[in-house]
Amino acid sequence: MKTNAITHADQVTQSRDVEQLVVGRATSDGAGVKLTRVLSQSLQHRLDPFLMLDAFASDNPDDYIAGFPDHPHRGFETVTYMIAGRMRHRDNAGHEGLLENGGVQWMTAGRGIIHSEIPMQEEGVMEGFQLWLNLPGKDKMNAPWYQDFSAADLPRLVTEAGVAATVIAGESQGVSGAVTRDATAPIYLDLHFPAATRFAQALPKEFNAFVYVYRGEVTIAGTTVPAQRMAILDSDAQADGVVIEASGDARVLLIAGRPLNEPIAQYGPFVMNTEQEIYQALNDFRDGRLA
Ligand code: MN
Repeated sequence: MKTNAITHADQVTQSRDVEQLVVGRATSDGAGVKLTRVLSQSLQHRLDPFLMLDAFASDNPDDYIAGFPDHPHRGFETVTYMIAGRMRHRDNAGHEGLLENGGVQWMTAGRGIIHSEIPMQEEGVMEGFQLWLNLPGKDKMNAPWYQDFSAADLPRLVTEAGVAATVIAGESQGVSGAVTRDATAPIYLDLHFPAATRFAQALPKEFNAFVYVYRGEVTIAGTTVPAQRMAILDSDAQADGVVIEASGDARVLLIAGRPLNEPIAQYGPFVMNTEQEIYQALNDFRDGRLA
């Protein structure tokens, strides 16, 4: 990884509070991959523009080996962050990429893509996350796009206190992330806390924001957030960001973005604004016009 110099430390005078702690729901998807759905459909409006967050972590190949064979998407973006393991991506446009240890694949489904996501390992740990980010209605039928970032490609910073941040999207401490988006302006940070450290991130007041703890535990404005919990941060008009404190080693995803405030119509891997557009997606998929 390249470590970037901090050009200005984010100043936060009042942190957002924790509004709600969410426990993910165990489920399976694809050809039987076991995962935890942390951000589910019932939170799509509260956490607009984010539609889904799945966490997967297992050292049992039976939990992941079948992967996600060919399936379609339309109308949003998927961001896959692989903490440990190897997964091969292939799509109908002939693109192919290997996502491994610390890498990110950012895919814009736009008007349509058909792809597979298949593990390239038969044993060992597979751990990572897939986040779904909505597209504004005006961009849902744009051409699909994707980019793979290896761990070395991702901007990283280390604060004076020793907190390491990988800046997947948005900006933190003056360091720009790998991806920026105009409409939703997503911020996606992976934060590694040594014991007895804190991290401040400025957040625009209108942004929806949440934290997912995947190692250790942290404290936000007096509320303890244990491992495998998502903390939805409140939208207090007085707060200008979030301050996260860790008494022991901890690892945390911090995700925030500007809400689209548009109707959300979802049917499985299609996320549009209206039922009519969902029927169109189903018809296009059935008739081979999706991708
Ligand atoms: Mn997919």
